[in-house]
Amino acid sequence: MRRKLAAGNWKMNGTGAALQELSELAIAHPKPTSDILICPPATLIHRATQVVADTAIQIGGQDCHTDPKGAHTGDISAEMLKDAGARYVIVGHSERRQDHNEQNETVRAKARIAMDNGLTTIVCLGESLTEREAANTLDIIGGQLSGSVPDAATGHDLVIAYEPIWAIGTGHVPSLSQIGEVHDFIRARLERRFGPGVGRSVRIVYGGSVNPGNAGDIFDVSNVDGALVGGASLKSADFSAIITALEAAS
Ligand code: PEP
Repeated sequence: MRRKLAAGNWKMNGTGAALQELSELAIAHPKPTSDILICPPATLIHRATQVVADTAIQIGGQDCHTDPKGAHTGDISAEMLKDAGARYVIVGHSERRQDHNEQNETVRAKARIAMDNGLTTIVCLGESLTEREAANTLDIIGGQLSGSVPDAATGHDLVIAYEPIWAIGTGHVPSLSQIGEVHDFIRARLERRFGPGVGRSVRIVYGGSVNPGNAGDIFDVSNVDGALVGGASLKSADFSAIITALEAAS
């Protein structure tokens, strides 16, 4: 049985005042049956871990560097995230791939060092609208999956997030059958590469304009083990409704 995951990515949003949302979330979900994760900006990680101490809410980073340390002004290492109290890290988000020209090889190196530092690593994959319209979605996802995910990953340290670029922050969501097709494809590829035991234990979450209104339908799709949520994770009431939908799904 895979434990479901509701992950919030706050991106470059939030100052100290936003930590109140975490307190509210913890009060709303004292004994969750899913994993609940918030990835705030790096400036808030340590304070966030203090706010959610002794609750079921976990804190993660939004990115890490490929190197363990060194002359990389403004960057943050996996070890630093762990030291600040993070349990997870997102790598290969499409905004990193686009804004910082990150290629699969870089994403894979980030995932490797994150795993080596004991962080559960959410590797993001997703096609552009042009790629979907050209019927290249599965080729793109297959290439990103083999290029971005390190060898020797396990269900404990790897989560895959399928996030179509055209669905992120746009309000446009793929059809349920499109989501199911990609998640089933990712599952089959994971089983082929890592064997059925590990392949079936890795969680695959969907991301892209998930909100309280569409979450329930998305969570009923095969091989959808949760969500990576941007905008709707910023307000505890919205994210809480998504968590409730996740825990109600079959
Ligand atoms: C994201 O950026 O990972 C994301 C899914 O954003 P949104 O939910 O706002 O589309």
